Amino acid sequence: MKTVSVFCITLLLTTLSFVALAQHPTVSKNEARAYEKGTRNFNGTPGANYWQNSSDYFIQVSVDVKNKILSGRERIVYSNNSPDSLKTIVIRLYQDVFKKGVNRNSIVPVNPADIHDGVRIASLKVNNEDIDLSKSSQQVMRDGTLMYVFLSKKLAPKSTTELQIEWSFDFPQHTLIRMGTIDSTSMFVGQWYPQIAVYDDVNRWDTRSYNGLAEFYNDFSNFEVEISVPDQFMVWATGDPLNLKDMLQPQIYSRYTNACTSDEIHHVIAEEDILNKKITTQNHTWKYKATNVSDFAFGVSDHYLWDVTSVIVDKSSGRRTVVGTAYNTTSVNFEKVISISRETIRSLSEEMPGIPYPFPYLTVYAGDFGMEYPMITNVGPDAEFGMTVYANSHEIAHAYFPFLVGTNETVVGWMDEGLTVYIPENSQHNIAPELNIGAYNTSAFSQYAGIQDEVALITPTQCLDAKIYFYLSYAKAEQALRMLEMELGHDLFKTCLLTFIERWKYKHPTALDFFHTFSDVSKRDLDWYWMAWYYQVGGIPDLAIKNVTKSGNKYTAVIENKGQMPLPVLLTFYANDKNTGNITSAASQWQGNKTEMTLTFETTDAVTKIVLGSETIPDTQPDDNEYLVKQK
Ligand SMILES: [Zn+2]
Repeated sequence: MKTVSVFCITLLLTTLSFVALAQHPTVSKNEARAYEKGTRNFNGTPGANYWQNSSDYFIQVSVDVKNKILSGRERIVYSNNSPDSLKTIVIRLYQDVFKKGVNRNSIVPVNPADIHDGVRIASLKVNNEDIDLSKSSQQVMRDGTLMYVFLSKKLAPKSTTELQIEWSFDFPQHTLIRMGTIDSTSMFVGQWYPQIAVYDDVNRWDTRSYNGLAEFYNDFSNFEVEISVPDQFMVWATGDPLNLKDMLQPQIYSRYTNACTSDEIHHVIAEEDILNKKITTQNHTWKYKATNVSDFAFGVSDHYLWDVTSVIVDKSSGRRTVVGTAYNTTSVNFEKVISISRETIRSLSEEMPGIPYPFPYLTVYAGDFGMEYPMITNVGPDAEFGMTVYANSHEIAHAYFPFLVGTNETVVGWMDEGLTVYIPENSQHNIAPELNIGAYNTSAFSQYAGIQDEVALITPTQCLDAKIYFYLSYAKAEQALRMLEMELGHDLFKTCLLTFIERWKYKHPTALDFFHTFSDVSKRDLDWYWMAWYYQVGGIPDLAIKNVTKSGNKYTAVIENKGQMPLPVLLTFYANDKNTGNITSAASQWQGNKTEMTLTFETTDAVTKIVLGSETIPDTQPDDNEYLVKQK
């Protein structure tokens, strides 16, 4: 920017409030216990006594595409790494969200045609002992989408137990909550297998019933999954494909293996292959293996195209991620998604956050919705290129939150969503220059901030109204991060973020671990910031130019904070239409309930206009952000 002479500058602050109460983020009883037991530290690091439980899942599932029924059997080896003896195991049956009478608060309405009697459990064994599943059973209890299994013998610390479950359920045909029927022979399958709930050092058993709103909170576990499908059906799934050579026609398999080491885009399944029905073999059971991942999902179809490429994600080792897109010939814009995905993974690995993409595979399945699972996403086609870029890069970026860093989306959905909106913003703009997600979120936040139903950002996600969930978890959460970046400066902000990832990768951080890490690494007391952005109920962003006086070449502007948010101040000076310079003040200058600050600026240019703020600094009432200097 061409500036004339910007002589800095005095800063005067007027304190209208004399007493500012010391305020700190609330430490819940449960978190206090974690600090006491040394599983977490006050500086935001995992404690010396940190532990987490995990499972080994061995699942065989059969997909009846015609009748839309999933039937499976699974063996789970559950490791209790906690210091506690467990007398109960809590199992999640996500698909009970479609059960008659279950409490739902879904982000999309449930079509009554999909309501059923719940997941059918044909048999359950614990350590080879049959469990009574009758209505009068004293051994199990189903409540919401959970099944409690009361053990006859407690599961001791540092020991394992084995569960075997046979189950089936009617797959939703008319409702898409993250998973569902895409067309008559394409299904995206997520949140589908009986899964052990998280038992952690903060809350013990996570007994929040899945109601269709918040996404998930899962242990890091290992999966070996066999998926049986009808003739001619392809499967794309989380994990290493173990038997592709047996499943694919040689020509298709050869194209795939070539793509796995190539930077080029390979059309592994093209339209003529679908017409010729020369894709799969007579084997129908697809085998996948994934280690240390928080979930397993898959998609099936008998008429999807498949593009594959690969990207070097770690230049030091040459490690590649194999990237594929599976889509319908009618999925508008999806032929571009392979390039979008490639570039997104490259930029995530090299630029922001600049950590090699944590998985060896990614498949983007053209479904309906926008949902992330480890190594596979379900994204609906969009007629707009910009939205295609936004939606796909967003779901891909979730690889870092909550999949590398295992945040709890049922409690702090704002953490993974806010970060996942924020992290790929530059990359999205580079791929689709018309996209300015930062400005979009600023505008959304400015518009909605302070509406009547707005609760604090820290409110547990599961407790949110579906109407406010998106505004809070995405727009406001992104704003809070970007304003924090402006406060700390990009480099320090990034150092804090990278430290948080390093400390908590493959672990379960809380909101306090996030706040404490940023305060610890920045060596700044940021409690004022957390209180304003995360703990305050509502809070309107509204700065105004109250007054400007001129003395010689010196302009003195009084800025008023008419709202309740500590915002950075940016004043830009114009001589006619020429930008002659700007002056800024950090949001921290508003600390202590200050409502006014004075900034001065010197220039020899004849200033005609002074503008407060920018398209990425929120302001609910922008009318008072411009000051016209009277020319004498
Ligand atoms: Zn998301």
